[in-house]
Amino acid sequence: MSKVALVTGGSRGIGAAISVALKNAGYTVAANYAGNDEAARKFTEETGIKTYKWSVADYDACAAGIAQVEAELGPVAVLVNNAGITRDSMFHKMTRDQWKEVIDTNLSGLFNMTHPVWSGMRDRKFGRIINISSINGQKGQAGQANYSAAKAGDLGFTKALAQEGARAGITVNAICPGYIATEMVMAVPEKVRESIIAQIPTGRLGEPEEIARCVVFLASDDAGFVTGSTITANGGQYFV
Ligand code: NDP
Repeated sequence: MSKVALVTGGSRGIGAAISVALKNAGYTVAANYAGNDEAARKFTEETGIKTYKWSVADYDACAAGIAQVEAELGPVAVLVNNAGITRDSMFHKMTRDQWKEVIDTNLSGLFNMTHPVWSGMRDRKFGRIINISSINGQKGQAGQANYSAAKAGDLGFTKALAQEGARAGITVNAICPGYIATEMVMAVPEKVRESIIAQIPTGRLGEPEEIARCVVFLASDDAGFVTGSTITANGGQYFV
């Protein structure tokens, strides 16, 4: 029987590429999303991947959603914490809501999703947790104090849990993408996009599939000795 992979924010952008790549690698995939029913419907129609709607910012909704996925598809072996939002603002103008929404989704979302699958993974002596952080969690970004703090927190979470999971056969890793050609990035004015690309040594944006291939590796049996690590995939824009 194929292993079950659950991808948060798995019906659009980088998450959609991750869902498809995991399906192509032989996993039974569940793609979670927050509210864009139309995108989720289209995604399922095109890929055959089931979608499940709940907010990763809500612990009880995560526990219930994961229970539903496990009842329908089987125990979650691979969890990809990909869902993320931005609420950008220079700090002197940042509201408490902008801070809280980003922390609740991009940082607490990892606790809310990982906690309900952790015991089962420990019992089964196998698990793969893959957290999608960001270059801006590594280097910080003006206008993104909330996002940078949450994404840096994701890396601390990854390293701590890697140590707790190692003896139980659970690996916990992170990926830090740089600028990736998702709808969000492609929607910025061409001139701005050109100035972004000028800062990337490879001279191009990353493709969602390039992040997805990193996920497939980290999820695989071949990656059993890789834990607590961060794959930096940013075209050479920033080195840690
Ligand atoms: P998109 O905005 O294209 O997609 C975000 C996905 O997350 C959507 O499926 C959305 O659901 C889902 N989502 C948002 N909030 C929640 C929530 N509370 N609960 C469940 N699902 C939620 O994002 P990207 O593909 O661009 O980004 C994916 C990840 O990669 C994020 O964590 C982002 O921070 C990170 N990243 C992206 C980079 C980029 O250049 N694009 C660079 C570095 C990191 P719905 O469809 O319902 O709205």
